[in-house]
Amino acid sequence: MTLPLSELRGPVRALFSDVDGTMTTGDRIEASTYEALERLGEAGIPVIMVTGRPAGFGQAFMKMTPVLAVVSENGGVTFVRNGRKLEKLYGVPQASLPEWRRRMNDTAVEVMSKVPGARLSSDSKYREVDLAIDWNEEASLSRDDAELCVDMIRRAGFTAVRSSVHVNFGPPHFDKLSACKTVIRQVLKGNVDDLAPYCFVGDALNDAPMFGGLPTSVGVANVKHWWDELAHKPAYLTEHAEGRGLRELIAHLMSLRTNR
Ligand SMILES: [Mg+2]
Repeated sequence: MTLPLSELRGPVRALFSDVDGTMTTGDRIEASTYEALERLGEAGIPVIMVTGRPAGFGQAFMKMTPVLAVVSENGGVTFVRNGRKLEKLYGVPQASLPEWRRRMNDTAVEVMSKVPGARLSSDSKYREVDLAIDWNEEASLSRDDAELCVDMIRRAGFTAVRSSVHVNFGPPHFDKLSACKTVIRQVLKGNVDDLAPYCFVGDALNDAPMFGGLPTSVGVANVKHWWDELAHKPAYLTEHAEGRGLRELIAHLMSLRTNR
């Protein structure tokens, strides 16, 4: 059962946050959201971005925003700091990537030939592990056609998840949750057998593994667009949508700290 955010009691040691539709409001990170993220980090609750966006975005986020780590490509590539260097952790063995990419390109061509209007997302060229079919960013496919893409891709032997804008697909056996567990172990030195202190917030179908895997999971109100399709529902729901919902969560986490 999903509860209102006010029922979230904590303590929360780190915030894992989706980006599109959660951190962003109408495609932008508002100044007030950015400031709230900074304040939370300064208060000792680090922020980890968890996104379906490409590794190229992940590197930029790591360099330019107040985050501790970035999970990109839905877990395909995770950025962590190692002294002054950025270290990349891959969801599949790096040596296997060229062969996977060749097969994925073939599948993308097949999908585009069978689903009118489907195309590779404009950010696909910055991806290292997965690829994305644009269904709702610059393209506008129906949900049914987007699901047709998902089915075709899965039948070709890949994992596929639909976010609010893309159908991301890639080699099997990684997702947002497996990558976040790596961050909890390696960066936060936490225990993955007790995930309750790690809060996740997201808004879409590709967040379902996180909603299912983390007991302290939160949906921003716009997650209700996909509610019936969500394999796992978040434990808590904000009142507000998108960035405003994330700010509502951050304010709540800050109040838990001061009331402790
Ligand atoms: Mg999202």
